Amino acid sequence: MIGGVYPSLHRVAADVKVYDISVPLDEELAVYPGDTMFSRDIIMAFEKGDECALTGITMSAHFGTHLDSPAHFFPDGRTIDSYPPEQFILPAQVVESASADVIRAEELRELTLSPGTALLFKTSNSLSGLVRKKAFAENYVCLSEKAAYVCAQLEPSLVGIDYFSIDSFSDKKYPAHFQLLGAGILVLEGIDLREVPVGKYTLCCFPLRLRGLEASPVRAVLFASETV
Ligand SMILES: [Zn+2]
Repeated sequence: MIGGVYPSLHRVAADVKVYDISVPLDEELAVYPGDTMFSRDIIMAFEKGDECALTGITMSAHFGTHLDSPAHFFPDGRTIDSYPPEQFILPAQVVESASADVIRAEELRELTLSPGTALLFKTSNSLSGLVRKKAFAENYVCLSEKAAYVCAQLEPSLVGIDYFSIDSFSDKKYPAHFQLLGAGILVLEGIDLREVPVGKYTLCCFPLRLRGLEASPVRAVLFASETV
């Protein structure tokens, strides 16, 4: 088993186009209003004459590109550390929405998906650079409640979007989070799909093993191959 898998992972890294769809984490990235700001604490530095560099960081578990698990909205829902790592290596499908405000259910009527696939939405959030800007934008493209319902019916294992929430900023009932997380579907937020053509990929997005937490930042990567 190991002999079969190990060489193919190496080959993928060398031969297949890899898209890094994570946003850089620093003070220049937008923070969801009310959430913890990113900051760094320089504990040791070469400039101070110390023998090494040592940095502490403060940030929200929902900062930048991150995964939400059901515990985000459900008191007894699964926490991010409760999943085995293979849950974060998935066949993925990138679809594009031309909507300027909300992805509607009608747009998804023709969409077919193998159950278990990661469904990633590329919108103007990526194309306009919104997801990379420092100022938080309240008018990002999100998923309507009905669209989230249609998504859940397709039985993906994960749904992703290219801004820091899958729900509208103005709807504090969070219907898309409830629809998806309630169906056991992970939510990947803050991905940057600007360079990624519509199509099929393999997604890897490992969260930190943060015990009992409802979310974690991830390094999300798409391999331009369905079989890694
Ligand atoms: Zn989140």
